[in-house]
Amino acid sequence: DDKLDPTSSVLRQLVVVRVRPLNSAEKARKAFQCVFPLDKRRVLLVDPEKFENNILRQNRQHERKFEFDATFGAVSNQEDVHETTTGPIVDSVVQGYNATVFAYGATGSGKTFTMIGTKERPGLMTLMTKALYEKLDNQYQVLLSYMEIYNEIIRDLLNPTGGDLELLEDERGNIRVPGLSSVKAPNLTRVMIVKNQTLHSKLFMIDLAGSERASNTQVSFLKHSHSHPQRFTLKNRGIRLKEGAAINRSLLALGNVINSLASKTTKYVNYRDSKLTRLLKDSLGGTAKTCMIAHVTPSSSNFEETYNTLMYASRAM
Ligand code: ADP
Ligand code: MG
Repeated sequence: DDKLDPTSSVLRQLVVVRVRPLNSAEKARKAFQCVFPLDKRRVLLVDPEKFENNILRQNRQHERKFEFDATFGAVSNQEDVHETTTGPIVDSVVQGYNATVFAYGATGSGKTFTMIGTKERPGLMTLMTKALYEKLDNQYQVLLSYMEIYNEIIRDLLNPTGGDLELLEDERGNIRVPGLSSVKAPNLTRVMIVKNQTLHSKLFMIDLAGSERASNTQVSFLKHSHSHPQRFTLKNRGIRLKEGAAINRSLLALGNVINSLASKTTKYVNYRDSKLTRLLKDSLGGTAKTCMIAHVTPSSSNFEETYNTLMYASRAM
């Protein structure tokens, strides 16, 4: 039962956690590693404060274990993550399923590294696209789009000067973003026909906003204003809180949707609360495949965020 099968119709939702290596800045500030992947599925989290206050440490009250579909630590590379997460989703997409893969976590936890990566270590967007092209075998037409949702405003990143875009839902429940540009992949011109029906599938690869902003905007403003009261005018404050509120809206709405989908009792899923969840309506839930890659830093100095992220991800299971 240790075997993962994200393409099975039962397990539509896959939740994994990636712990990035401790970096030199964290080491320099004498932070220690407080998150440990224990095995393929479990991570151990040590509360630094409880650890210090709990001299005997025999009752293990400073420890907490979390279980996910898979965990990746410092020994895992980009290919390992792809093999477990996006790799199997390729098959679903080719079969006509919609799918959403998103990177969740605080700023600096490794979301962009996983999704985009570096030239030497390309991330899931590249690995996924490659795998998809290999599977497609010139039988399909592939269209790629690239967009951003910031403060509930949708921008076309392939045409950044083109103005704000709107979201529409047609009578069959298909979500569209009229005016969003797409590029046609070359040499992939034939559309697959199954029983005289065209198979369409959508795949979303999402690099989410830092999750800490959802809960901490107000707090960080107060902290800053305490030491540098002159630095924040009322205007600054208004903008900061508005940004925080908008980011909060998408992440909160996403969290609620995921909780409803994961719940065995809730039947109703509310997608209406944010642009992000409206966009994903036909690609999250239903027959769509969903994969959440939660990211945490191993550093004791980020314990709070790590705890929040692991809790958020656990609720999605
Ligand atoms: P985020 O997008 O969540 O804000 P980044 O992806 O930008 O975080 O990661 C922060 C830094 O940590 C970057 O310099 C990145 O290259 C590095 N990093 C993140 N994850 C890993 C990893 N798994 N292995 C090595 N370096 C990583
Ligand atoms: Mg990033």
